[in-house]
Amino acid sequence: MSAMVVAVDVNKYFGPFHALQNVSLEIKHGEVLCIIGPSGSGKSTLLRCINQLERIDAGAIWIDDELVGFRQDGNKLYELTDAQIARQRLASGMVFQRFNLFAHMTVLENIIEGPVIVQKRAKASVIPEAMALLERVGLADKKDAYPSELSGGQQQRIAIARALAMQPKLMLFDEPTSALDPELVSEVLSVMRDLATSGMTMIVVTHELGFAREVAHRVVFMDHGRIVETGTPHDILSSP
Ligand code: ADP
Ligand code: ADP
Repeated sequence: MSAMVVAVDVNKYFGPFHALQNVSLEIKHGEVLCIIGPSGSGKSTLLRCINQLERIDAGAIWIDDELVGFRQDGNKLYELTDAQIARQRLASGMVFQRFNLFAHMTVLENIIEGPVIVQKRAKASVIPEAMALLERVGLADKKDAYPSELSGGQQQRIAIARALAMQPKLMLFDEPTSALDPELVSEVLSVMRDLATSGMTMIVVTHELGFAREVAHRVVFMDHGRIVETGTPHDILSSP
């Protein structure tokens, strides 16, 4: 297997509700996949399963050839230990609809928190990397600001830098622009476009069909917990 993400027959229940129904998916290294579909179709749940925020009930997910979640093989169950889950959660960086920044920390402190506290890396090497990421998202001059002093678009760009600071293998975006005022959407999409161009593997749940058309290599359409269509943006999305 040389794909970055492989999902095979993934099933997820919330009580009796069947949220993901035999979802299978393969994403190559460097590929940008956009997931579209109506509200409640399971898009967010799929990302959360890939990121280990949710456990799957059946099937298997691999990231870069490492098993994530569990796998049912005939009557045998393979489960991961908590330590394996914690390690594999770090494989993917996630950006949510609402900015997940710590309000009491400055921008720079927010970005170095993961590498220093979670990955236990030396501050001296993390700070220059964090500054380079701030340059990359165009916010180096905001390093000492607090999140509340920033616009929603700026906070979301910091959230992207914060996720990248953990050096993830892939990035997951869950409707990253849908909570933003319309005039702030493009600055966030522009950072995401640059990231895609740099070769990052990305899975993007979005309603921004223009972005999907322009940046995605492949588009998946979900409905009622299933993947109902997969193809190129040209195949899936009619012209504007
Ligand atoms: P989408 O991202 O496509 O809008 P979600 O993945 O958020 O959809 O949700 C899919 C379905 O699963 C929805 O019907 C939602 O209400 C349900 N769901 C999501 N998370 C939970 C949960 N923690 N408990 C119960 N139901 C949930
Ligand atoms: P295939 O032969 O179809 O490519 P395999 O099931 O042989 O797939 O292995 C695919 C990946 O899953 C490999 O990286 C392997 O290490 C991993 N894997 C397979 N079975 C298990 C298991 N029981 N526990 C952990 N990882 C597994």
